Amino acid sequence: MIPILAQADADQAQAAVPDLAALMRPGTLQLQGLPPLSLYVHIPWCLRKCPYCDFNSHAHASGNLPQQAYTQALLLDLEAALPLVWGRVIHSVFIGGGTPSLFDPHTIGTLIGDIRARLRLAPDCEITMEANPGTFEKERFRDFAGAGVTRLSIGVQSFHDGHLQALGRVHDRAQSLAAVEEAAQAFATFNLDLMYALPGQTLDDLQADLATALAFAPPHLSIYQLTLEPNTYFATHPPVLPSDDTAYDMLDHISAAAQAAGLERYEVSAYARPHHACWHNRNYWEFGDYLGIGAGAHSKLSFPHRVIRQVRVRDPALYMQRAQAGGGSSTVTQSREVSRADLPFEFMLNALRLKDGFALALFSERTGLPVSAIAAGLRAGQERGLLEADLVHVRPTPRGFDFLNDVHSLFLP
Ligand code: SF4
Repeated sequence: MIPILAQADADQAQAAVPDLAALMRPGTLQLQGLPPLSLYVHIPWCLRKCPYCDFNSHAHASGNLPQQAYTQALLLDLEAALPLVWGRVIHSVFIGGGTPSLFDPHTIGTLIGDIRARLRLAPDCEITMEANPGTFEKERFRDFAGAGVTRLSIGVQSFHDGHLQALGRVHDRAQSLAAVEEAAQAFATFNLDLMYALPGQTLDDLQADLATALAFAPPHLSIYQLTLEPNTYFATHPPVLPSDDTAYDMLDHISAAAQAAGLERYEVSAYARPHHACWHNRNYWEFGDYLGIGAGAHSKLSFPHRVIRQVRVRDPALYMQRAQAGGGSSTVTQSREVSRADLPFEFMLNALRLKDGFALALFSERTGLPVSAIAAGLRAGQERGLLEADLVHVRPTPRGFDFLNDVHSLFLP
């Protein structure tokens, strides 16, 4: 990565202020057009910090969340970023966290209205919000739909009380069931987040969890293997997890059961019925653009001659302070240009997560680089049986899909 703006080492340091003139100047890339643009909004609080979670989420009692001050900061942050996305259409909004459903529907409705007043949202703009069971009264889901949310993503994780406890979740099986029932009634499309390979989980347990989830006929399912991430409680106090072989068996079962229920695996962890794939996530995987606002939010933005990544202040209090100070103060702590050498790897890291891969033309469109930049990696991937490629399209083979790290490594700079 090539730094193009003053870069702060820590949240405490003076933030980098984006310089639009520098972003628009000639560079080594030649993008024929700008990719589709999404907006990500981060709400950084949860009732309790889960022991496996490495997201920028902070435990906070629900009663005194600074909802007004934070949404005010989000809007100021958005206004400061507008010159970077001027005139562009927003195709999806994702309100994630943290636990956005801790905010009341009125606040979420006002936030969506204020975003609409500042950005041009496509008429069919997908507006997803993350919600956790147990953080609301049931009626709240309908109110979120009334507030303008078009798609709900529910962090169920499991329907098994013992496993929910092992994961440190605040909700139980009964609340998971109630939440999914309510979402199915309030939303035309919704997602269930599940996890597998949990402490003490057997293949039978997983099958029971999945059968419960599929009984609701969810339009979309996201299923992640529990992994021990650095800087989490589980990293220092690791639980005993199922063996790798059991985890593979679980994944095989998940793919087969989801498919039998009419859900196609279209990405490593995502399954959807026809027309219910998540537009927002697909845009990430197709190396589209996203502006991220909120504490710790990440952005990836393209300009005619460069692609940049930005990161915002992680600490919520400091984020609000920076956003409200305005002037020379900025919520952006890192802003850097993705180098020509790194672009192929970054593109592949995303695009090869899609089961159907990508059109070769998309590579040049999104990176501004010729296809020759990935020719050696494609050849090596084909020789090793990890990739299928012709003159127009690239996709991982079933073996490549199972060993994506090996495929990605072929494109390291
Ligand atoms: S609810 Fe989600 S975001 Fe919050 S701590 Fe748990 S895993 Fe992290």
